Amino acid sequence: MSSKSEYALEFLINAHSGPKCAWCKHPNKEIYRKSLCSSCYRISRKVKQLTALAEEYRKQDEPAPLGLEFDRDTYAVVAKYAQREGKSYDNIQEREITGLQLEWELSHVSKWFVKTDLFYGLASVLEHSFTADQRRLFFYLLSLMSRAHLRRGYKQRAAYSDERRRLSHGEPSDEQHPLPESRVHRASQ
Ligand SMILES: [Zn+2]
Repeated sequence: MSSKSEYALEFLINAHSGPKCAWCKHPNKEIYRKSLCSSCYRISRKVKQLTALAEEYRKQDEPAPLGLEFDRDTYAVVAKYAQREGKSYDNIQEREITGLQLEWELSHVSKWFVKTDLFYGLASVLEHSFTADQRRLFFYLLSLMSRAHLRRGYKQRAAYSDERRRLSHGEPSDEQHPLPESRVHRASQ
C-alpha cells in the first residue's frame, strides 16, 4: 500500500469514527436527540405528529383536513429516504468502490449541477488510475455533494413518488426501492 493510499484510508476511518445519526449516518452531522441528527429528528417528529393527528380523526370518525394524510405519507417516505441514505453511504472505508460506481456518482453530480453527463464511459480510467483507497476517498468526497443535493429534494420527490402513492392506497411500500435518481446505490446493495 502506498503512503498516499494509507493517508486516504486514515482520513476515511477518522471521518467515520465518531457517533453517527442512526438514520442517515452522515459523518459530519452531530447527534441532536434520540440518536438522530437534527434533520432526521425533525423528520421523525413530523411523521409522529402527522400520524397521531390522522389517527385522532380516524378514531373520532371525522374526515381529516385536506392534505393531512398526503403529508403524513410524504414524510413517511422522506424518513425512508434518510435511512436509505445511511445504508448507501455509511462506512465507505470498508466497501469496495469500483470505477463504475465512481463514474455513476460523477455522472449524477454532473447532471444535477450542469444538467449534462460529462463523465460517461470513464469507469475503466477511474478503476485503473486510483488505488482502492483512493477510489473510496473520491467516492466519499462526491457523496458529500450527492447527499447535500438529495436532501434538499427529499420532500418534493417523496410527495410525487410511487412509494407515497402506494402508502396512500394502503399498499405496502417497496423496501428495496433505491434512493431517487441514483443508480450507484443499486450496485452497492
Ligand atoms: Zn440524520
